[in-house]
Amino acid sequence: MGDIRNNRLPPEEYARNFADAHPPLTRAQALVESDRCYFCYDAPCVTACPTAIDIPSFIRKIATGDPKGAAKDILTQNIMGSVCARVCPTEVLCEGSCVRTAQEERPVKIGALQRYATDWLFDAGVQLFKSGPASGKRVAVVGGGPAGLSCAHRLAMLGHAVTVYEARAKVGGLNEYGVAAYKVAGDIAQREVEYLLAVGNIQVRTGQALGRDVALAQLRRDYDAVFLGAGLGAVNGLGIEEGAVSGVFDAIGYIETLRQARDLAALPVGRNVVVIGGGMTAIDIACQTKRLGADDVTIVYRRGEEHMSASEKEQDWAQTNGIRIKHWSRPQRLLTEKSAVTAVEFEYTRLDADGKLVGTGERYTLAADMVFKAIGQTLVADPFIEGGRQVLLTREGRVGVDEQRRTSLPGIWAGGDCVAGGQDLTVAAVEDGKQAALSIDAWLRTAKAKGASHG
Ligand SMILES: Cc1cc2nc3c(=O)[nH]c(=O)nc-3n(C[C@H](O)[C@H](O)[C@H](O)COP(=O)(O)OP(=O)(O)OC[C@H]3O[C@@H](n4cnc5c(N)ncnc54)[C@H](O)[C@@H]3O)c2cc1C
Ligand code: SF4
Repeated sequence: MGDIRNNRLPPEEYARNFADAHPPLTRAQALVESDRCYFCYDAPCVTACPTAIDIPSFIRKIATGDPKGAAKDILTQNIMGSVCARVCPTEVLCEGSCVRTAQEERPVKIGALQRYATDWLFDAGVQLFKSGPASGKRVAVVGGGPAGLSCAHRLAMLGHAVTVYEARAKVGGLNEYGVAAYKVAGDIAQREVEYLLAVGNIQVRTGQALGRDVALAQLRRDYDAVFLGAGLGAVNGLGIEEGAVSGVFDAIGYIETLRQARDLAALPVGRNVVVIGGGMTAIDIACQTKRLGADDVTIVYRRGEEHMSASEKEQDWAQTNGIRIKHWSRPQRLLTEKSAVTAVEFEYTRLDADGKLVGTGERYTLAADMVFKAIGQTLVADPFIEGGRQVLLTREGRVGVDEQRRTSLPGIWAGGDCVAGGQDLTVAAVEDGKQAALSIDAWLRTAKAKGASHG
């Protein structure tokens, strides 16, 4: 029988295991690190940043003892620059293209410097932004995640009155409910939200879900424009018979509970944990269950290492945490005893001559008292209907938008994870929100004012 229980570790170990994964730079360290920057003209790190932060400019300000100016450079482009400094895969974005990487294999620590400047600002309690002169226009934002909040902040700065409709009890989206606890240790996600909302002219309505408490048609009637930033609300199944088996969990749901837990010792965790998936969620649930005291944690992915959507650094991080990653295997069957999972049977896979994933017929089992599904999320598009017309979805089932983040319905914009073609990263969601706000603003001041539609 399975062994799922709480209090697996001595009390002091929980705090240690969930402390800041990458402690902040001291002032002296920040000065030394900023001195390593060449302040490149046409800097490749800026091009690689989805929000186009002027990285050499903010690093120069740190080097000259002006952290406030540095924070302003960062937050002007990316209002969630503090959480992004902690969660961005910098190794494939800004730091991945830093010219110093080519020369000496170690890029400037852009993420850590960004954190240094934004932490300084929050600690100093300096508010850099205030809402603009009232435009008389009202915009509804659906979803209080990075996309929605970024859009709301920029709209408020441009003088529009914003109302955020958020289904959950708190805003913040996956920064608050999803990202690994040790990446955003302490209350940084909520501190950032408070800073952002302090701009003024943003009303937040929590516990208000589009499709349940309010309809798109009503928002279209009551507001001049609507932004959809609802993220992805549903999780994919394993593709095998799951039945009423205990011990099988949706990774996102468990992480949400973990992120909101006051007492980590109270969280039940198995002895043998199997995680099925190959992305950031799989890595996060694996590392966090291990840190909650699981003995043996294995990630099983159906394709090869090079196909995993978790970056190389994330995969290394999992291995540093003692996680085993098995590739080229897909689940076939849950083995149970008294309706509780005891093992998972897998089949080895390979690519056939046409590049299609096929089973080899060879099978093996892994003992498991806890199995996590971490195989991607999908959009819940039901609420995106207005007057019988639905916002156009792409073949992959996400909202289709143009480069200004306009949807197929006039007056409705969208961004973040719910739209097609995105990177599914916090920083990309923030950029979507910002770009949508700029487009909404231009439309409200020109076409809409003249009674035209964007479509
Ligand atoms: C486990 C996990 C770990 C991750 N780790 C990282 C990481 O380390 N680094 C990184 O860059 N990215 C990470 N990501 C991805 C990142 O969190 C997302 O790309 C980002 O949060 C997307 O922002 P969003 O605003 O589009 O959606 P979300 O953050 O999902 O926010 C959507 C908001 O809309 C609300 N909502 C949903 N439906 C409705 C409705 N009908 N009405 C009203 N409100 C609604 C939700 O409650 C939520 O608050 C991770 C994702 C997951 C799942
Ligand atoms: S590429 Fe590297 S060295 Fe050049 S400006 Fe960016 S951080 Fe500095």
